[in-house]
Amino acid sequence: MQAYQTLVKELREIALLGSINSLLSWDEHVNLPQSGAPHRAEQEALIARLHHERFTSPRIGELLAQLESSDLVKDPESDAAANVRNARRDYDRATKVPTELVEEMTKTAVLAQHAWVEARKKSEFKIFQPWLDNTVELKKREAGYVGWKDHIYDALLDPYEPGESTANLRRVFESLRDPLIELIGKIAESGKRAPVEVLEGSFPTNLQEKFGRIGAAAIGFDFDAGRLDTTVHPFCSGIAGGDTRITTRYNEQSFIESFMGVLHETGHALYEQGLPKTEHFGEPIADAISLGIHESQSRLWENLVGRRKSFWRHFLPKAREVFGSSLKNVNEDTWYFAINEITPSFIRVESDEATYNLHILLRFQLEQALVTDELKASDLPAAWNERMKKYLGITPPNDAQGCLQDIHWSMGSIGYFATYTLGNLYAAQFYEQAATDLGDLDAMFSRGEFLPLLKWLREKIHRHGRRYTAGQLVQRVTGKPLSAEPLLNHLRAKAKELYAV
Ligand code: ZN
Repeated sequence: MQAYQTLVKELREIALLGSINSLLSWDEHVNLPQSGAPHRAEQEALIARLHHERFTSPRIGELLAQLESSDLVKDPESDAAANVRNARRDYDRATKVPTELVEEMTKTAVLAQHAWVEARKKSEFKIFQPWLDNTVELKKREAGYVGWKDHIYDALLDPYEPGESTANLRRVFESLRDPLIELIGKIAESGKRAPVEVLEGSFPTNLQEKFGRIGAAAIGFDFDAGRLDTTVHPFCSGIAGGDTRITTRYNEQSFIESFMGVLHETGHALYEQGLPKTEHFGEPIADAISLGIHESQSRLWENLVGRRKSFWRHFLPKAREVFGSSLKNVNEDTWYFAINEITPSFIRVESDEATYNLHILLRFQLEQALVTDELKASDLPAAWNERMKKYLGITPPNDAQGCLQDIHWSMGSIGYFATYTLGNLYAAQFYEQAATDLGDLDAMFSRGEFLPLLKWLREKIHRHGRRYTAGQLVQRVTGKPLSAEPLLNHLRAKAKELYAV
Protein backbone atom coordinates (compact mmCIF):
# COMPACT_ATOMS: atom_id res chain seq x y z
CA MET A 1 0.00 0.00 0.00
CA GLN A 2 1.38 3.36 -1.10
CA ALA A 3 0.49 5.24 2.10
CA TYR A 4 2.34 2.65 4.19
CA GLN A 5 5.49 2.86 2.05
CA THR A 6 5.37 6.64 2.35
CA LEU A 7 4.95 6.49 6.14
CA VAL A 8 7.82 4.04 6.56
CA LYS A 9 10.11 6.13 4.37
CA GLU A 10 9.19 9.25 6.32
CA LEU A 11 9.73 7.56 9.72
CA ARG A 12 13.07 6.25 8.54
CA GLU A 13 14.31 9.73 7.66
CA ILE A 14 13.03 11.09 10.96
CA ALA A 15 14.90 8.30 12.77
CA LEU A 16 18.05 9.16 10.80
CA LEU A 17 17.81 12.67 12.25
CA GLY A 18 17.39 11.11 15.70
CA SER A 19 20.46 8.93 15.23
CA ILE A 20 22.50 11.96 14.13
CA ASN A 21 21.65 13.51 17.49
CA SER A 22 22.58 10.30 19.30
CA LEU A 23 25.98 10.45 17.65
CA LEU A 24 26.44 14.15 18.49
CA SER A 25 25.47 13.43 22.07
CA TRP A 26 27.82 10.43 22.31
CA ASP A 27 30.66 12.58 20.98
CA GLU A 28 29.73 15.34 23.41
CA HIS A 29 30.20 12.97 26.34
CA VAL A 30 33.25 11.07 25.06
CA ASN A 31 35.36 13.50 23.03
CA LEU A 32 34.15 17.09 23.02
CA PRO A 33 36.61 19.78 24.20
CA GLN A 34 34.93 22.03 26.77
CA SER A 35 35.02 25.11 24.54
CA GLY A 36 33.04 23.27 21.90
CA ALA A 37 30.00 22.86 24.16
CA PRO A 38 28.01 25.99 23.09
CA HIS A 39 28.32 25.11 19.40
CA ARG A 40 27.39 21.49 20.08
CA ALA A 41 24.30 22.62 22.02
CA GLU A 42 23.22 24.62 18.95
CA GLN A 43 23.80 21.67 16.63
CA GLU A 44 21.78 19.34 18.83
CA ALA A 45 18.96 21.85 19.28
CA LEU A 46 18.69 22.32 15.49
CA ILE A 47 18.52 18.60 14.80
CA ALA A 48 15.99 18.13 17.62
CA ARG A 49 13.82 20.88 16.13
CA LEU A 50 13.99 19.39 12.62
CA HIS A 51 13.14 16.00 14.07
CA HIS A 52 10.15 17.39 15.95
CA GLU A 53 8.87 19.38 12.94
CA ARG A 54 9.10 16.41 10.60
CA PHE A 55 7.42 14.06 13.05
CA THR A 56 4.56 16.39 14.04
CA SER A 57 3.74 17.50 10.48
CA PRO A 58 0.05 17.09 9.55
CA ARG A 59 1.17 14.80 6.73
CA ILE A 60 2.07 12.08 9.27
CA GLY A 61 -1.38 12.45 10.86
CA GLU A 62 -3.07 12.07 7.47
CA LEU A 63 -1.08 8.97 6.56
CA LEU A 64 -1.88 7.39 9.93
CA ALA A 65 -5.61 8.13 9.61
CA GLN A 66 -5.65 6.60 6.12
CA LEU A 67 -3.85 3.47 7.30
CA GLU A 68 -5.91 3.01 10.44
CA SER A 69 -9.00 2.40 8.35
CA SER A 70 -7.25 0.01 5.96
CA ASP A 71 -7.00 -3.80 5.91
CA LEU A 72 -3.29 -3.53 6.45
CA VAL A 73 -3.71 -3.18 10.21
CA LYS A 74 -6.28 -5.98 10.69
CA ASP A 75 -3.87 -8.38 12.35
CA PRO A 76 -2.68 -6.50 15.45
CA GLU A 77 0.55 -8.51 15.61
CA SER A 78 1.62 -7.74 12.04
CA ASP A 79 4.54 -5.41 11.40
CA ALA A 80 2.27 -2.87 9.75
CA ALA A 81 -0.30 -2.83 12.56
CA ALA A 82 2.37 -2.55 15.25
CA ASN A 83 4.09 0.25 13.36
CA VAL A 84 0.90 2.21 12.76
CA ARG A 85 -0.30 1.74 16.35
CA ASN A 86 2.97 2.87 17.91
CA ALA A 87 3.50 5.72 15.47
CA ARG A 88 0.00 6.95 16.38
CA ARG A 89 0.84 6.85 20.09
CA ASP A 90 4.04 8.83 19.60
CA TYR A 91 2.41 11.23 17.16
CA ASP A 92 -0.48 12.00 19.52
CA ARG A 93 1.84 12.55 22.43
CA ALA A 94 4.10 14.83 20.37
CA THR A 95 1.25 16.89 18.92
CA LYS A 96 -0.89 17.24 22.04
CA VAL A 97 1.62 19.29 24.02
CA PRO A 98 1.90 22.85 22.61
CA THR A 99 5.34 23.90 21.36
CA GLU A 100 5.38 26.88 23.78
CA LEU A 101 5.02 24.53 26.75
CA VAL A 102 7.77 22.24 25.44
CA GLU A 103 10.06 25.26 25.05
CA GLU A 104 9.22 26.51 28.54
CA MET A 105 9.99 23.07 29.98
CA THR A 106 13.32 22.93 28.13
CA LYS A 107 14.34 26.37 29.40
CA THR A 108 13.19 25.65 32.95
CA ALA A 109 15.13 22.38 32.95
CA VAL A 110 18.38 24.17 32.10
CA LEU A 111 17.93 26.75 34.88
CA ALA A 112 16.59 24.19 37.36
CA GLN A 113 19.65 22.01 36.80
CA HIS A 114 21.95 24.95 37.56
CA ALA A 115 20.00 25.64 40.75
CA TRP A 116 20.07 21.96 41.66
CA VAL A 117 23.86 21.75 41.22
CA GLU A 118 24.32 24.73 43.54
CA ALA A 119 21.73 23.49 46.04
CA ARG A 120 23.35 20.08 46.22
CA LYS A 121 26.84 21.54 46.59
CA LYS A 122 25.72 23.73 49.50
CA SER A 123 23.18 21.18 50.72
CA GLU A 124 20.56 23.96 50.74
CA PHE A 125 17.20 22.75 49.57
CA LYS A 126 15.78 26.30 49.54
CA ILE A 127 17.88 27.13 46.45
CA PHE A 128 16.19 24.35 44.49
CA GLN A 129 12.71 24.58 45.98
CA PRO A 130 11.23 27.29 43.66
CA TRP A 131 12.51 25.32 40.65
CA LEU A 132 10.93 22.14 41.90
CA ASP A 133 7.69 24.07 42.33
CA ASN A 134 7.93 25.34 38.73
CA THR A 135 8.80 21.92 37.38
CA VAL A 136 5.87 20.24 39.12
CA GLU A 137 3.50 22.93 37.79
CA LEU A 138 4.80 22.46 34.24
CA LYS A 139 4.45 18.68 34.47
CA LYS A 140 0.87 19.10 35.67
CA ARG A 141 0.15 21.31 32.68
CA GLU A 142 1.79 18.76 30.38
CA ALA A 143 -0.36 15.99 31.89
CA GLY A 144 -3.42 18.16 31.30
CA TYR A 145 -2.66 18.31 27.57
CA VAL A 146 -1.78 14.62 27.28
CA GLY A 147 -4.81 13.52 29.28
CA TRP A 148 -5.30 10.52 31.56
CA LYS A 149 -8.04 8.19 32.70
CA ASP A 150 -7.50 7.35 36.37
CA HIS A 151 -4.56 9.26 37.79
CA ILE A 152 -2.62 12.33 36.68
CA TYR A 153 0.58 10.34 37.26
CA ASP A 154 -0.43 7.95 34.44
CA ALA A 155 0.25 10.77 31.99
CA LEU A 156 3.75 11.26 33.43
CA LEU A 157 4.64 7.56 33.40
CA ASP A 158 3.49 7.26 29.83
CA PRO A 159 6.56 8.55 27.94
CA TYR A 160 8.79 6.07 29.80
CA GLU A 161 6.40 3.12 30.19
CA PRO A 162 3.84 3.32 27.39
CA GLY A 163 0.53 1.85 28.49
CA GLU A 164 1.54 1.37 32.14
CA SER A 165 -0.79 2.59 34.90
CA THR A 166 -0.19 4.05 38.34
CA ALA A 167 -2.69 1.56 39.78
CA ASN A 168 -0.80 -1.45 38.40
CA LEU A 169 2.55 -0.14 39.62
CA ARG A 170 1.12 0.53 43.07
CA ARG A 171 -0.17 -3.03 43.20
CA VAL A 172 3.20 -4.53 42.37
CA PHE A 173 5.37 -2.05 44.27
CA GLU A 174 3.27 -2.35 47.41
CA SER A 175 3.55 -6.12 47.39
CA LEU A 176 7.32 -5.67 47.19
CA ARG A 177 7.66 -2.98 49.87
CA ASP A 178 6.82 -4.61 53.21
CA PRO A 179 8.50 -7.97 52.59
CA LEU A 180 11.60 -6.10 51.45
CA ILE A 181 11.65 -3.83 54.51
CA GLU A 182 11.33 -6.95 56.65
CA LEU A 183 14.13 -8.79 54.82
CA ILE A 184 16.53 -5.84 55.02
CA GLY A 185 15.73 -5.44 58.71
CA LYS A 186 16.56 -9.11 59.36
CA ILE A 187 19.84 -8.78 57.49
CA ALA A 188 20.78 -5.73 59.58
CA GLU A 189 20.02 -7.70 62.78
CA SER A 190 21.93 -10.78 61.62
CA GLY A 191 25.21 -9.30 62.81
CA LYS A 192 26.91 -10.66 59.67
CA ARG A 193 29.02 -8.31 57.64
CA ALA A 194 30.17 -8.71 54.06
CA PRO A 195 34.00 -8.78 53.75
CA VAL A 196 34.03 -5.78 51.39
CA GLU A 197 37.71 -5.04 52.10
CA VAL A 198 38.66 -7.83 49.68
CA LEU A 199 37.40 -5.61 46.86
CA GLU A 200 40.15 -3.06 47.52
CA GLY A 201 43.55 -3.23 45.83
CA SER A 202 45.50 -1.78 42.97
CA PHE A 203 43.77 -2.11 39.62
CA PRO A 204 45.30 -0.05 36.79
CA THR A 205 42.81 1.43 34.32
CA ASN A 206 44.30 -0.30 31.28
CA LEU A 207 43.88 -3.71 32.94
CA GLN A 208 40.32 -2.90 34.00
CA GLU A 209 39.50 -1.96 30.44
CA LYS A 210 40.98 -5.24 29.24
CA PHE A 211 38.94 -7.20 31.78
CA GLY A 212 35.78 -5.24 30.98
CA ARG A 213 36.17 -6.13 27.30
CA ILE A 214 36.63 -9.80 28.19
CA GLY A 215 33.41 -9.70 30.25
CA ALA A 216 31.36 -7.84 27.64
CA ALA A 217 32.52 -10.14 24.83
CA ALA A 218 31.86 -13.28 26.89
CA ILE A 219 28.20 -12.41 27.42
CA GLY A 220 27.78 -11.62 23.74
CA PHE A 221 28.59 -7.96 23.01
CA ASP A 222 29.53 -7.67 19.34
CA PHE A 223 32.59 -5.41 19.18
CA ASP A 224 32.34 -5.33 15.38
CA ALA A 225 29.03 -3.56 15.90
CA GLY A 226 29.91 -1.50 18.95
CA ARG A 227 32.51 0.25 21.11
CA LEU A 228 33.51 0.72 24.75
CA ASP A 229 34.75 4.16 25.84
CA THR A 230 35.27 6.18 29.04
CA THR A 231 32.89 8.84 30.43
CA VAL A 232 32.06 10.42 33.80
CA HIS A 233 28.54 8.96 33.74
CA PRO A 234 28.31 5.55 32.03
CA PHE A 235 25.66 5.03 29.36
CA CYS A 236 24.68 2.97 26.33
CA SER A 237 23.77 4.55 23.02
CA GLY A 238 22.08 2.49 20.32
CA ILE A 239 22.84 4.68 17.32
CA ALA A 240 21.95 2.19 14.60
CA GLY A 241 21.72 -1.51 13.84
CA GLY A 242 25.46 -1.92 13.45
CA ASP A 243 26.53 0.75 15.91
CA THR A 244 25.88 0.34 19.66
CA ARG A 245 28.22 2.16 22.02
CA ILE A 246 28.75 1.73 25.75
CA THR A 247 30.87 3.65 28.24
CA THR A 248 32.27 3.13 31.72
CA ARG A 249 34.47 4.87 34.30
CA TYR A 250 37.35 3.55 36.38
CA ASN A 251 38.37 3.61 40.04
CA GLU A 252 41.91 2.25 40.43
CA GLN A 253 41.30 1.08 44.04
CA SER A 254 38.53 -1.30 43.05
CA PHE A 255 37.56 -2.76 39.71
CA ILE A 256 34.17 -4.12 40.66
CA GLU A 257 32.20 -0.91 40.18
CA SER A 258 33.49 -0.46 36.66
CA PHE A 259 33.10 -4.13 35.78
CA MET A 260 29.51 -4.36 37.04
CA GLY A 261 28.87 -1.11 35.19
CA VAL A 262 30.20 -2.68 31.99
CA LEU A 263 27.93 -5.70 32.49
CA HIS A 264 25.00 -3.33 33.05
CA GLU A 265 25.64 -1.27 29.92
CA THR A 266 26.39 -4.43 27.94
CA GLY A 267 22.95 -5.69 28.98
CA HIS A 268 21.43 -2.57 27.44
CA ALA A 269 23.65 -3.01 24.39
CA LEU A 270 22.69 -6.66 23.88
CA TYR A 271 19.06 -5.54 23.72
CA GLU A 272 19.95 -2.83 21.19
CA GLN A 273 22.01 -5.29 19.13
CA GLY A 274 19.13 -7.78 19.22
CA LEU A 275 16.40 -5.39 18.07
CA PRO A 276 15.46 -5.68 14.37
CA LYS A 277 17.17 -2.37 13.66
CA THR A 278 18.99 -3.35 10.51
CA GLU A 279 15.94 -4.48 8.53
CA HIS A 280 13.45 -2.09 10.11
CA PHE A 281 15.47 0.99 11.05
CA GLY A 282 13.15 3.88 11.86
CA GLU A 283 10.03 1.76 12.18
CA PRO A 284 8.54 1.62 15.70
CA ILE A 285 8.88 -2.19 15.75
CA ALA A 286 12.67 -1.77 15.67
CA ASP A 287 12.58 0.16 18.94
CA ALA A 288 12.72 -0.84 22.60
CA ILE A 289 9.35 -1.29 24.33
CA SER A 290 9.98 0.92 27.34
CA LEU A 291 12.68 2.07 29.74
CA GLY A 292 11.61 -0.61 32.22
CA ILE A 293 12.13 -3.39 29.68
CA HIS A 294 15.43 -1.82 28.63
CA GLU A 295 16.52 -1.70 32.25
CA SER A 296 15.44 -5.32 32.75
CA GLN A 297 18.06 -6.36 30.21
CA SER A 298 20.84 -4.46 31.96
CA ARG A 299 19.83 -5.59 35.47
CA LEU A 300 19.49 -9.18 34.35
CA TRP A 301 23.13 -9.34 33.25
CA GLU A 302 24.45 -7.14 36.05
CA ASN A 303 22.56 -8.61 39.01
CA LEU A 304 20.88 -11.90 38.15
CA VAL A 305 23.91 -13.19 36.22
CA GLY A 306 26.88 -11.01 37.22
CA ARG A 307 26.41 -11.43 40.98
CA ARG A 308 26.09 -15.23 40.91
CA LYS A 309 28.68 -17.54 42.33
CA SER A 310 28.71 -19.57 39.12
CA PHE A 311 29.53 -16.44 37.12
CA TRP A 312 32.58 -15.82 39.30
CA ARG A 313 33.61 -19.46 39.20
CA HIS A 314 34.39 -18.65 35.59
CA PHE A 315 35.51 -15.03 35.96
CA LEU A 316 37.53 -14.96 39.20
CA PRO A 317 40.37 -17.05 37.70
CA LYS A 318 40.23 -14.76 34.66
CA ALA A 319 40.42 -11.68 36.93
CA ARG A 320 43.46 -13.19 38.69
CA GLU A 321 45.15 -13.67 35.33
CA VAL A 322 44.53 -10.03 34.42
CA PHE A 323 45.15 -8.31 37.78
CA GLY A 324 47.72 -10.64 39.33
CA SER A 325 48.76 -10.08 42.96
CA SER A 326 45.87 -7.78 43.98
CA LEU A 327 43.55 -10.78 43.98
CA LYS A 328 45.85 -13.50 45.27
CA ASN A 329 44.29 -13.75 48.75
CA VAL A 330 40.67 -13.77 47.63
CA ASN A 331 38.66 -16.97 47.45
CA GLU A 332 35.38 -17.55 45.68
CA ASP A 333 33.21 -17.46 48.82
CA THR A 334 34.54 -14.22 50.28
CA TRP A 335 34.45 -12.59 46.85
CA TYR A 336 30.87 -13.68 46.33
CA PHE A 337 29.80 -12.33 49.73
CA ALA A 338 31.67 -9.05 49.20
CA ILE A 339 29.97 -8.25 45.87
CA ASN A 340 26.57 -9.09 47.35
CA GLU A 341 26.66 -6.88 50.42
CA ILE A 342 23.18 -5.75 51.47
CA THR A 343 23.18 -2.73 53.75
CA PRO A 344 21.11 0.47 53.99
CA SER A 345 22.80 3.60 52.63
CA PHE A 346 21.76 7.14 51.74
CA ILE A 347 22.70 7.31 48.07
CA ARG A 348 20.56 5.45 45.54
CA VAL A 349 23.26 4.95 42.91
CA GLU A 350 25.62 3.41 45.47
CA SER A 351 23.00 1.13 47.00
CA ASP A 352 22.82 -2.64 46.61
CA GLU A 353 20.48 -4.88 44.65
CA ALA A 354 17.92 -5.14 47.50
CA THR A 355 17.84 -1.73 49.21
CA TYR A 356 17.90 0.00 45.79
CA ASN A 357 14.22 -0.72 45.33
CA LEU A 358 13.23 1.05 48.55
CA HIS A 359 15.04 4.16 47.30
CA ILE A 360 12.83 3.95 44.23
CA LEU A 361 9.56 3.26 46.07
CA LEU A 362 10.17 6.34 48.18
CA ARG A 363 10.60 8.53 45.08
CA PHE A 364 7.59 6.90 43.37
CA GLN A 365 5.35 7.88 46.29
CA LEU A 366 6.74 11.38 46.71
CA GLU A 367 6.35 12.14 43.00
CA GLN A 368 2.68 11.21 43.13
CA ALA A 369 2.19 13.29 46.28
CA LEU A 370 3.84 16.30 44.57
CA VAL A 371 1.75 16.21 41.38
CA THR A 372 -1.50 15.73 43.32
CA ASP A 373 -0.65 18.61 45.72
CA GLU A 374 -0.71 16.30 48.73
CA LEU A 375 2.87 17.35 49.32
CA LYS A 376 4.23 20.88 48.98
CA ALA A 377 7.73 21.22 47.57
CA SER A 378 8.77 22.98 50.79
CA ASP A 379 7.86 19.86 52.80
CA LEU A 380 9.86 17.51 50.59
CA PRO A 381 13.01 17.21 52.78
CA ALA A 382 10.98 16.24 55.85
CA ALA A 383 8.84 13.75 53.88
CA TRP A 384 11.98 12.26 52.34
CA ASN A 385 13.75 11.80 55.66
CA GLU A 386 10.69 10.33 57.31
CA ARG A 387 10.41 7.66 54.61
CA MET A 388 14.13 6.88 54.67
CA LYS A 389 13.78 6.20 58.38
CA LYS A 390 10.70 4.04 57.85
CA TYR A 391 12.07 2.07 54.89
CA LEU A 392 15.78 1.80 55.57
CA GLY A 393 16.07 2.74 59.23
CA ILE A 394 18.46 5.63 58.56
CA THR A 395 18.11 9.43 58.38
CA PRO A 396 20.24 11.44 55.92
CA PRO A 397 22.56 13.89 57.73
CA ASN A 398 21.75 16.61 55.15
CA ASP A 399 19.68 17.20 51.99
CA ALA A 400 22.65 16.68 49.66
CA GLN A 401 22.58 13.06 50.82
CA GLY A 402 18.80 13.15 50.90
CA CYS A 403 16.29 14.71 48.53
CA LEU A 404 18.92 16.63 46.52
CA GLN A 405 20.96 13.62 45.43
CA ASP A 406 19.38 12.91 42.01
CA ILE A 407 19.40 15.08 38.91
CA HIS A 408 16.08 13.71 37.54
CA TRP A 409 13.54 16.17 38.95
CA SER A 410 15.63 19.16 37.94
CA MET A 411 15.51 17.85 34.36
CA GLY A 412 11.74 17.54 34.51
CA SER A 413 11.95 13.73 34.57
CA ILE A 414 9.05 12.99 36.90
CA GLY A 415 7.75 9.44 36.38
CA TYR A 416 11.16 8.09 35.40
CA PHE A 417 12.35 6.53 38.67
CA ALA A 418 9.73 3.78 38.60
CA THR A 419 11.39 2.29 35.52
CA TYR A 420 14.45 1.28 37.56
CA THR A 421 12.51 -0.98 39.92
CA LEU A 422 10.36 -2.15 37.04
CA GLY A 423 13.64 -3.21 35.42
CA ASN A 424 14.57 -5.25 38.49
CA LEU A 425 11.15 -6.86 38.65
CA TYR A 426 11.03 -7.78 34.96
CA ALA A 427 14.63 -9.03 35.11
CA ALA A 428 13.87 -11.43 37.97
CA GLN A 429 10.67 -12.66 36.33
CA PHE A 430 12.38 -13.23 32.97
CA TYR A 431 15.35 -14.93 34.60
CA GLU A 432 13.11 -17.30 36.53
CA GLN A 433 11.44 -18.32 33.26
CA ALA A 434 14.78 -18.69 31.46
CA ALA A 435 15.99 -21.01 34.22
CA THR A 436 12.84 -23.11 33.81
CA ASP A 437 13.24 -23.26 30.03
CA LEU A 438 17.00 -23.74 29.81
CA GLY A 439 17.79 -25.93 32.80
CA ASP A 440 20.94 -25.60 34.88
CA LEU A 441 22.12 -22.08 34.05
CA ASP A 442 24.68 -22.15 36.87
CA ALA A 443 26.41 -25.14 35.30
CA MET A 444 26.57 -23.24 32.01
CA PHE A 445 27.87 -20.03 33.59
CA SER A 446 30.61 -21.81 35.53
CA ARG A 447 31.82 -23.18 32.17
CA GLY A 448 31.72 -19.67 30.69
CA GLU A 449 28.67 -20.43 28.54
CA PHE A 450 26.46 -17.36 28.42
CA LEU A 451 25.17 -17.54 24.88
CA PRO A 452 22.27 -19.95 25.51
CA LEU A 453 20.76 -17.32 27.82
CA LEU A 454 21.41 -14.57 25.29
CA LYS A 455 19.80 -16.65 22.56
CA TRP A 456 16.74 -17.11 24.77
CA LEU A 457 16.51 -13.35 25.39
CA ARG A 458 16.88 -12.66 21.67
CA GLU A 459 14.12 -15.11 20.82
CA LYS A 460 11.68 -14.17 23.57
CA ILE A 461 12.28 -10.43 23.95
CA HIS A 462 14.74 -8.64 21.67
CA ARG A 463 13.55 -9.64 18.21
CA HIS A 464 9.99 -8.47 18.91
CA GLY A 465 11.05 -4.84 19.29
CA ARG A 466 7.96 -2.84 20.14
CA ARG A 467 5.39 -5.30 18.81
CA TYR A 468 3.92 -5.81 22.31
CA THR A 469 3.52 -3.59 25.35
CA ALA A 470 5.62 -4.43 28.40
CA GLY A 471 2.57 -5.96 30.09
CA GLN A 472 1.80 -8.14 27.06
CA LEU A 473 5.42 -9.21 26.74
CA VAL A 474 5.82 -10.36 30.34
CA GLN A 475 2.55 -12.28 30.08
CA ARG A 476 3.68 -13.88 26.81
CA VAL A 477 7.15 -14.82 28.03
CA THR A 478 6.34 -15.96 31.56
CA GLY A 479 2.62 -16.80 31.37
CA LYS A 480 1.94 -14.38 34.25
CA PRO A 481 1.40 -10.67 34.78
CA LEU A 482 4.19 -8.69 36.43
CA SER A 483 4.68 -9.80 40.02
CA ALA A 484 7.03 -9.00 42.90
CA GLU A 485 7.45 -12.69 43.79
CA PRO A 486 10.38 -13.61 41.49
CA LEU A 487 12.47 -10.67 42.72
CA LEU A 488 11.57 -11.37 46.35
CA ASN A 489 12.41 -15.06 45.93
CA HIS A 490 15.74 -14.18 44.37
CA LEU A 491 16.65 -11.73 47.18
CA ARG A 492 15.42 -14.07 49.92
CA ALA A 493 17.51 -16.93 48.60
CA LYS A 494 20.58 -14.74 48.53
CA ALA A 495 19.93 -13.38 52.04
CA LYS A 496 19.53 -16.90 53.35
CA GLU A 497 22.74 -18.07 51.74
CA LEU A 498 24.88 -15.11 52.82
CA TYR A 499 23.27 -13.75 55.98
CA ALA A 500 21.53 -16.92 57.21
CA VAL A 501 18.19 -15.12 57.63
ZN1 ZN B 1 20.51 1.15 32.94
